[in-house]
Amino acid sequence: MKTSKSVENIIIGAGPGGLACAAHLARNGQKVLVLERKYCIGPKVCAGGITWSGLLRHVPENLLEGVFCDQYIFTNLQRIRVRGKNPIIATINRKTLGQWMAKTAKQAGAEIATGTRAHTITAEHIIVSTPDGENRKIGYTHLIGADGSTSIVRKYLGIPVNNLGIGINYMVAGQRSKMEWHLNTRLFGSGYGWIFPHKDVISIGAFCDRKNMPAADLKKQLLTWAARQGYDLTREEAKAALVNSDFQGCFFGNIYLVGDAAGLASSLTGEGIYPAIVSGEAVAKRILDPGYAAPEINAMVRRQRQHQTVIRLSAKNPLLCSFLMEWLVLLLRLKIIDFHALEMAGRFSVQVPAA
Ligand SMILES: Cc1cc2nc3c(=O)[nH]c(=O)nc-3n(C[C@H](O)[C@H](O)[C@H](O)COP(=O)(O)OP(=O)(O)OC[C@H]3O[C@@H](n4cnc5c(N)ncnc54)[C@H](O)[C@@H]3O)c2cc1C
Repeated sequence: MKTSKSVENIIIGAGPGGLACAAHLARNGQKVLVLERKYCIGPKVCAGGITWSGLLRHVPENLLEGVFCDQYIFTNLQRIRVRGKNPIIATINRKTLGQWMAKTAKQAGAEIATGTRAHTITAEHIIVSTPDGENRKIGYTHLIGADGSTSIVRKYLGIPVNNLGIGINYMVAGQRSKMEWHLNTRLFGSGYGWIFPHKDVISIGAFCDRKNMPAADLKKQLLTWAARQGYDLTREEAKAALVNSDFQGCFFGNIYLVGDAAGLASSLTGEGIYPAIVSGEAVAKRILDPGYAAPEINAMVRRQRQHQTVIRLSAKNPLLCSFLMEWLVLLLRLKIIDFHALEMAGRFSVQVPAA
């Protein structure tokens, strides 16, 4: 096995979390190597929704697929439209987002190796398989696990994952003007079905806590619900992935976890892009300044715990679940809470600069 020169910062995973971390470190003069097992950066099972308070206003407008000031929310008993002064949510193609973030990180000086899978971790080095089929050993000073909800860095740290959500997504050709959330508790329990329009495709999918419903049942319910919305998904390709909401920390000595690897996604909505980017930047700041307290992560975890409470109470019985969803939407309708209560963004904003 070949051994490469040690690197100051190795980041496993070129998702939004890994790339945000890489850009921030490289901008501040650190040597960074990002390892990505896929050959193409970006594509990921995802509805591609990004919020105004989170990421939307930092992404160049020409990269967005659809921008929505209105959100349509349906429960068993209510249908409401939430209107924002600014766009509330936009949709983005994950490949577009990934390529843009990779370009930003490379311009800052980060090196990105695609087709390179990390498979072994020790306290001093990692072993990767390279595109030419070789194994290579690389030493590190800091190791950042930005490798998603099945993170091998998290496994190496011995941190189990107990709160997993499951999302199933179909990308269907077509156009649609309304962005819709269907909190149909009879079909999805405390989860929901969505219709998120992109430019020439529509993301139609469903998300729920894995403990509340097995994936096969979620898919069945999704097909039933989609048919009622006028979409026959039986001949379309379903893609599914897990979303980790089991946060146990980001900082473990010289090893760090970011985004889904850290379990920072919302268990209520499945929103994970913004938490990945914020935590990626926070980890970079901690590496640059070991005294950095990372208040943005604490704020996100507080929001995540509120979402978790709704999920935990909903799991107690179906009546309570329906009551909570109706109550939540009634509060939105009466403007007692606004849509931001459903978002992971707090008062901290991300710094992603234009490429
Ligand atoms: C169906 C569905 C819909 C969703 N919709 C939304 C949405 O609308 N909005 C939103 O905000 N969030 C959404 N999410 C969640 C969101 O996709 C994730 O939370 C987000 O991608 C997490 O970013 P990340 O950088 O932490 O991890 P990821 O985006 O998962 O990136 C991890 C990267 O690490 C790489 N990797 C993994 N293991 C290795 C290894 N051993 N070696 C090298 N590379 C490795 C992977 O290939 C991947 O590129 C959705 C999720 C699902 C499943």
